[in-house]
Amino acid sequence: MSTRTNDAVLPYDEVVARFDPVLGLEVHVELGTATKMFCGCPTEFGAPPNTQVCPVCLGLPGSLPAVNEVAVESAIRIGLALNCSIAEWCRFARKNYFYPDMPKNFQTSQYDEPIAFDGWLDVDVETDEGMRTFRVGIERAHMEEDTGKTSHQGGATGRIHGADYSLVDYNRAGIPLIEIVTKPVEGTGKYAPQVAKAYVASLREILRGLGVSDVKMEQGSLRCDANVSLRPSPDAPLGTRTETKNVNSLRSIERAVRYEMTRQAAILDAGGRVTQETRHWHEDTGITTSGREKSDAEDYRYFPEPDLVPIAPSREWVERLRASLPENPHVHRARLQAGWGISDFDMASVVNAGAVEVVEATIAAGADQAAARKWWLGELLRIANERGAELEDLPITPVEVARVEALVADGALNDKLARQVIEGVLAGEGDPDQVVAARGLAVVSDDGPLLAAIDDALGAQPDVAEKIRGGKVAAAGAIVGAVMKATRGQADAARVRELLLERLGVSDQA
Ligand code: ADP
Ligand code: MG
Ligand code: ZN
Repeated sequence: MSTRTNDAVLPYDEVVARFDPVLGLEVHVELGTATKMFCGCPTEFGAPPNTQVCPVCLGLPGSLPAVNEVAVESAIRIGLALNCSIAEWCRFARKNYFYPDMPKNFQTSQYDEPIAFDGWLDVDVETDEGMRTFRVGIERAHMEEDTGKTSHQGGATGRIHGADYSLVDYNRAGIPLIEIVTKPVEGTGKYAPQVAKAYVASLREILRGLGVSDVKMEQGSLRCDANVSLRPSPDAPLGTRTETKNVNSLRSIERAVRYEMTRQAAILDAGGRVTQETRHWHEDTGITTSGREKSDAEDYRYFPEPDLVPIAPSREWVERLRASLPENPHVHRARLQAGWGISDFDMASVVNAGAVEVVEATIAAGADQAAARKWWLGELLRIANERGAELEDLPITPVEVARVEALVADGALNDKLARQVIEGVLAGEGDPDQVVAARGLAVVSDDGPLLAAIDDALGAQPDVAEKIRGGKVAAAGAIVGAVMKATRGQADAARVRELLLERLGVSDQA
């Protein structure tokens, strides 16, 4: 029933002048455990369909689930990292629904007894008044299992409507998921879209730091649903929310929230009412369209799962896990910034580009901090934006970037050649040394060929040669340019200039 009409929208400035946005973010994280939540099936991504299944995750009669201890431990660690309380006792529930992606006809999930609840996460956002910290309340983090994957064949759209038949793959059914749900996030005003993005970015950083998931948004191991509502003023009751699904990059979270704000504002402005529903984000057109009207919790007939024992983590276990948590990203960043000796503004650029970890890893691999920032925030960020990808999803590693930088520092490459090496690595031609060898990229450091090229250029432009001899050092640029061209950019321009002036017996005083 999705409609593809373009809805009216209000200009953003007007939206934030007249309405107060409230956010609610639901993030699903696929845990990186070796086996599934309730059975011993492997969880590796990309196996042939229905090869990682067993009677438990297929829901065959008589099979009995057992809880994955590592998944529980991960859930507790996530809860602690988000400043949550950890339940002393909690259970799983059955969320009943019929859909072929769930062979049991129910999803085993936590419902009103989550393992972690009532926490918070601080996120930094660049505002007109500099960096500001917004505290996002965490309602709960609970354990559940992933569903299978359906794909609809034969239709034009890949959707179920118009398809000839559907296929289902149960490899993913039963993979442990943690759902992290925020409290309604108020007080963000015009920064709501940035806060939403920064929250998911910080959360991802925390999860990666905990080592509990590979947190790849494009592979679906981190998925975000963005709830948004508007109200006339911060002291008015909460407005009706929509829940936008399918937002699978950091950039789209910001865009989707912003779009929903402008769409809802246009409805309210025209005296209408926002429908409570799920909506789908379309990356290509930058709009959301109506999904389904939201089912109420009652529709699922939740009841406690009778086949699993309750979970009662001992306080001693919880404290042991708390003591072994990695450094909080907020603290970690402050420490990095001090170590690199850069300004708040420069650090904010790194953070906003989602580059903290890649820059840190590049420096750890031996690169200078300024050079590491330069490559990631310059050339690589430009390419990532072009591709609509995140920096860390680019097929180049921090170690490779550090290697390129080392080649530049040694004088084996200049910046221009370094960019070609990066291009080659991104194109899958191998690591930097392999690209250098295969493409024959190297600064010509031997003076012999350079002097020959200089003589050729001087011979071709005798008038310029005369000018330089006569003291017009500025004219040297033309000869240097000709030599760079002749050597296909592989010469060190500064060295060419030196050799040229030496050749003509002119001192370098412009
Ligand atoms: P559902 O089952 O519909 O997904 P959840 O409770 O799991 O509901 O998640 C709803 C999310 O939306 C939570 O983050 C919640 O804090 C947030 N939320 C609730 N009401 C509103 C509202 N009026 N406006 C914006 N966000 C809201
Ligand atoms: Mg939900
Ligand atoms: Zn199984």
